[in-house]
Amino acid sequence: MAPVADDSPVPADRAERAAAFAELRDRALECRRCRLAEGRTQVVFGSGDPDADLMFVGEGPGAEEDRQGLPFVGRSGQLLDRLMAEEMDLTRDRAYIANVVKCRPPDNRDPKPDEIEACRPWLEAQVDLIGPKVIVTLGNFSSRLLLDTREGITRLRGSVYPYRDRPDGTPVQLVPTFHPAAVLRGGGEPMAGMRADLVRAKQTLGTAASAGTGASVDAGGSA
Ligand code: SF4
Repeated sequence: MAPVADDSPVPADRAERAAAFAELRDRALECRRCRLAEGRTQVVFGSGDPDADLMFVGEGPGAEEDRQGLPFVGRSGQLLDRLMAEEMDLTRDRAYIANVVKCRPPDNRDPKPDEIEACRPWLEAQVDLIGPKVIVTLGNFSSRLLLDTREGITRLRGSVYPYRDRPDGTPVQLVPTFHPAAVLRGGGEPMAGMRADLVRAKQTLGTAASAGTGASVDAGGSA
Protein backbone atom coordinates (compact mmCIF):
# COMPACT_ATOMS: atom_id res chain seq x y z
CA MET A 1 0.00 0.00 0.00
CA ALA A 2 1.37 3.41 -0.96
CA PRO A 3 2.48 5.62 1.94
CA VAL A 4 0.20 8.61 2.68
CA ALA A 5 3.14 10.96 3.26
CA ASP A 6 6.69 11.01 2.03
CA ASP A 7 9.70 11.19 4.35
CA SER A 8 10.34 14.88 3.81
CA PRO A 9 10.76 16.85 7.05
CA VAL A 10 7.82 18.83 8.43
CA PRO A 11 8.15 22.39 7.06
CA ALA A 12 9.20 24.88 9.72
CA ASP A 13 7.40 27.68 7.89
CA ARG A 14 3.77 28.02 8.98
CA ALA A 15 2.41 28.76 5.49
CA GLU A 16 4.24 25.77 4.02
CA ARG A 17 2.91 23.58 6.81
CA ALA A 18 -0.64 24.80 6.13
CA ALA A 19 -0.22 24.01 2.43
CA ALA A 20 1.10 20.53 3.24
CA PHE A 21 -1.83 19.97 5.59
CA ALA A 22 -4.36 21.02 2.94
CA GLU A 23 -2.70 18.70 0.45
CA LEU A 24 -2.80 15.84 2.96
CA ARG A 25 -6.50 16.45 3.52
CA ASP A 26 -7.24 16.47 -0.21
CA ARG A 27 -5.53 13.10 -0.61
CA ALA A 28 -7.28 11.62 2.45
CA LEU A 29 -10.68 12.61 1.09
CA GLU A 30 -10.05 10.20 -1.81
CA CYS A 31 -8.67 7.38 0.37
CA ARG A 32 -9.70 3.79 -0.26
CA ARG A 33 -7.04 2.07 1.83
CA CYS A 34 -9.58 -0.07 3.73
CA ARG A 35 -13.07 -1.55 3.41
CA LEU A 36 -14.64 1.35 5.32
CA ALA A 37 -14.48 3.33 2.07
CA GLU A 38 -17.31 1.18 0.73
CA GLY A 39 -20.01 2.32 3.15
CA ARG A 40 -19.08 5.89 3.87
CA THR A 41 -20.83 8.99 2.62
CA GLN A 42 -17.59 10.93 2.90
CA VAL A 43 -14.22 10.88 4.66
CA VAL A 44 -14.28 12.75 7.97
CA PHE A 45 -10.73 14.05 8.00
CA GLY A 46 -10.94 16.35 11.03
CA SER A 47 -11.75 19.92 11.95
CA GLY A 48 -10.37 22.87 13.85
CA ASP A 49 -7.12 24.82 13.86
CA PRO A 50 -4.37 22.92 11.99
CA ASP A 51 -1.83 24.93 13.97
CA ALA A 52 -3.36 24.15 17.38
CA ASP A 53 -1.40 23.26 20.52
CA LEU A 54 -4.20 20.91 21.57
CA MET A 55 -5.54 17.96 19.64
CA PHE A 56 -8.40 15.58 20.45
CA VAL A 57 -8.43 12.10 18.92
CA GLY A 58 -11.62 10.05 19.02
CA GLU A 59 -12.64 6.72 17.56
CA GLY A 60 -14.51 7.09 14.27
CA PRO A 61 -17.36 8.96 12.63
CA GLY A 62 -20.97 8.16 13.52
CA ALA A 63 -24.02 8.68 11.33
CA GLU A 64 -24.21 12.44 11.78
CA GLU A 65 -20.47 12.90 11.29
CA ASP A 66 -20.63 10.79 8.12
CA ARG A 67 -23.48 12.96 6.85
CA GLN A 68 -21.86 16.31 7.67
CA GLY A 69 -18.21 15.36 7.04
CA LEU A 70 -17.20 16.74 10.45
CA PRO A 71 -16.09 14.96 13.64
CA PHE A 72 -18.06 15.09 16.90
CA VAL A 73 -21.17 16.87 15.68
CA GLY A 74 -23.78 14.73 17.47
CA ARG A 75 -24.59 14.49 21.17
CA SER A 76 -21.05 13.38 21.98
CA GLY A 77 -19.71 16.46 20.25
CA GLN A 78 -22.08 18.71 22.14
CA LEU A 79 -20.85 17.24 25.40
CA LEU A 80 -17.22 17.62 24.34
CA ASP A 81 -17.85 21.28 23.45
CA ARG A 82 -19.52 21.89 26.81
CA LEU A 83 -16.78 20.25 28.87
CA MET A 84 -14.06 22.01 26.86
CA ALA A 85 -15.73 25.32 27.60
CA GLU A 86 -16.37 24.59 31.28
CA GLU A 87 -13.07 22.93 32.19
CA MET A 88 -10.62 24.41 29.68
CA ASP A 89 -12.22 27.72 28.73
CA LEU A 90 -11.75 26.72 25.10
CA THR A 91 -13.90 26.51 22.00
CA ARG A 92 -13.34 23.74 19.45
CA ASP A 93 -11.93 26.13 16.84
CA ARG A 94 -8.89 26.58 19.13
CA ALA A 95 -8.10 22.85 18.98
CA TYR A 96 -7.97 20.21 16.26
CA ILE A 97 -10.33 17.23 16.42
CA ALA A 98 -9.74 14.00 14.49
CA ASN A 99 -10.49 10.29 14.74
CA VAL A 100 -8.56 7.03 14.58
CA VAL A 101 -10.56 5.94 11.52
CA LYS A 102 -11.84 8.58 9.17
CA CYS A 103 -14.74 6.67 7.62
CA ARG A 104 -17.85 5.48 9.42
CA PRO A 105 -17.86 1.80 10.35
CA PRO A 106 -21.17 0.22 9.25
CA ASP A 107 -23.90 0.19 11.92
CA ASN A 108 -21.49 2.07 14.21
CA ARG A 109 -19.55 -1.11 14.94
CA ASP A 110 -16.06 -0.87 16.41
CA PRO A 111 -13.27 -0.28 13.90
CA LYS A 112 -11.30 -3.46 13.19
CA PRO A 113 -7.56 -3.71 13.81
CA ASP A 114 -6.68 -3.79 10.09
CA GLU A 115 -8.85 -0.71 9.46
CA ILE A 116 -7.13 1.14 12.31
CA GLU A 117 -3.72 0.20 10.92
CA ALA A 118 -4.72 1.23 7.39
CA CYS A 119 -5.90 4.63 8.63
CA ARG A 120 -3.12 5.22 11.14
CA PRO A 121 -0.73 6.97 8.67
CA TRP A 122 -3.30 9.72 8.11
CA LEU A 123 -3.48 10.37 11.84
CA GLU A 124 0.30 10.23 12.20
CA ALA A 125 0.70 12.73 9.36
CA GLN A 126 -1.90 15.01 10.95
CA VAL A 127 -0.02 14.94 14.26
CA ASP A 128 3.27 15.64 12.47
CA LEU A 129 1.94 18.67 10.62
CA ILE A 130 -0.22 20.11 13.41
CA GLY A 131 2.52 19.62 15.99
CA PRO A 132 0.29 19.77 19.09
CA LYS A 133 1.82 20.13 22.55
CA VAL A 134 -0.94 18.01 24.11
CA ILE A 135 -3.11 15.25 22.66
CA VAL A 136 -6.27 14.21 24.52
CA THR A 137 -7.30 10.72 23.45
CA LEU A 138 -11.02 10.03 23.80
CA GLY A 139 -11.76 6.43 24.73
CA ASN A 140 -10.13 3.05 24.30
CA PHE A 141 -9.30 3.02 20.61
CA SER A 142 -7.25 6.20 20.33
CA SER A 143 -5.67 5.76 23.78
CA ARG A 144 -4.55 2.20 23.05
CA LEU A 145 -3.32 3.09 19.58
CA LEU A 146 -1.25 6.11 20.51
CA LEU A 147 0.08 4.63 23.75
CA ASP A 148 0.71 1.26 22.07
CA THR A 149 -0.93 -0.66 24.88
CA ARG A 150 -3.79 -3.10 25.43
CA GLU A 151 -4.69 -1.45 28.74
CA GLY A 152 -8.23 -0.05 28.97
CA ILE A 153 -9.14 3.59 29.36
CA THR A 154 -10.33 3.19 32.95
CA ARG A 155 -6.79 2.25 34.00
CA LEU A 156 -5.02 4.59 31.60
CA ARG A 157 -6.84 7.79 32.44
CA GLY A 158 -5.77 9.95 35.36
CA SER A 159 -2.19 10.36 34.14
CA VAL A 160 -0.10 12.28 31.63
CA TYR A 161 2.12 10.26 29.29
CA PRO A 162 5.00 11.25 27.03
CA TYR A 163 3.94 10.51 23.45
CA ARG A 164 6.82 11.60 21.25
CA ASP A 165 8.89 14.66 20.36
CA ARG A 166 7.70 17.40 18.07
CA PRO A 167 9.89 18.36 15.11
CA ASP A 168 11.38 21.19 17.22
CA GLY A 169 12.41 18.68 19.89
CA THR A 170 9.80 19.62 22.49
CA PRO A 171 7.69 16.74 23.76
CA VAL A 172 4.08 15.95 22.90
CA GLN A 173 2.18 14.95 26.04
CA LEU A 174 -0.78 12.61 25.96
CA VAL A 175 -3.78 12.80 28.29
CA PRO A 176 -6.22 9.89 27.92
CA THR A 177 -9.84 10.26 28.93
CA PHE A 178 -13.22 8.65 28.37
CA HIS A 179 -15.03 8.93 25.07
CA PRO A 180 -17.91 11.42 25.48
CA ALA A 181 -20.35 8.73 24.31
CA ALA A 182 -19.28 6.60 27.29
CA VAL A 183 -19.81 9.58 29.57
CA LEU A 184 -23.31 10.08 28.15
CA ARG A 185 -24.05 6.43 28.89
CA GLY A 186 -22.26 6.23 32.21
CA GLY A 187 -23.33 9.40 34.01
CA GLY A 188 -21.74 10.89 37.10
CA GLU A 189 -18.53 8.96 37.64
CA PRO A 190 -17.13 9.06 34.10
CA MET A 191 -18.31 12.65 33.80
CA ALA A 192 -16.28 13.61 36.87
CA GLY A 193 -13.31 11.68 35.49
CA MET A 194 -13.48 13.38 32.11
CA ARG A 195 -13.77 16.79 33.73
CA ALA A 196 -10.66 16.08 35.81
CA ASP A 197 -8.78 14.86 32.73
CA LEU A 198 -9.60 18.02 30.78
CA VAL A 199 -8.37 20.12 33.70
CA ARG A 200 -5.20 17.98 33.63
CA ALA A 201 -4.83 18.61 29.88
CA LYS A 202 -5.22 22.35 30.41
CA GLN A 203 -2.59 22.33 33.14
CA THR A 204 -0.27 20.31 30.90
CA LEU A 205 -0.76 22.81 28.09
CA GLY A 206 0.05 25.63 30.50
CA THR A 207 3.18 23.86 31.69
CA ALA A 208 4.31 23.26 28.12
CA ALA A 209 3.72 26.90 27.22
CA SER A 210 5.56 28.29 30.25
CA ALA A 211 8.45 25.87 29.76
CA GLY A 212 8.86 27.26 26.23
CA THR A 213 11.22 24.68 24.81
CA GLY A 214 10.29 21.81 27.06
CA ALA A 215 7.21 20.68 28.96
CA SER A 216 7.98 19.33 32.41
CA VAL A 217 5.01 17.16 33.26
CA ASP A 218 5.95 13.93 34.98
CA ALA A 219 5.31 10.99 32.71
CA GLY A 220 2.71 8.75 34.28
CA GLY A 221 2.19 11.06 37.26
CA SER A 222 -1.37 11.10 38.50
CA ALA A 223 -2.99 14.38 39.36
S1 SF4 B 1 -11.01 4.57 7.25
FE1 SF4 B 1 -9.08 5.60 6.77
S2 SF4 B 1 -7.86 4.07 5.65
FE2 SF4 B 1 -10.01 3.39 5.59
S3 SF4 B 1 -10.79 4.26 3.65
FE3 SF4 B 1 -11.29 5.71 5.30
S4 SF4 B 1 -9.61 7.21 5.30
FE4 SF4 B 1 -8.93 5.39 4.14
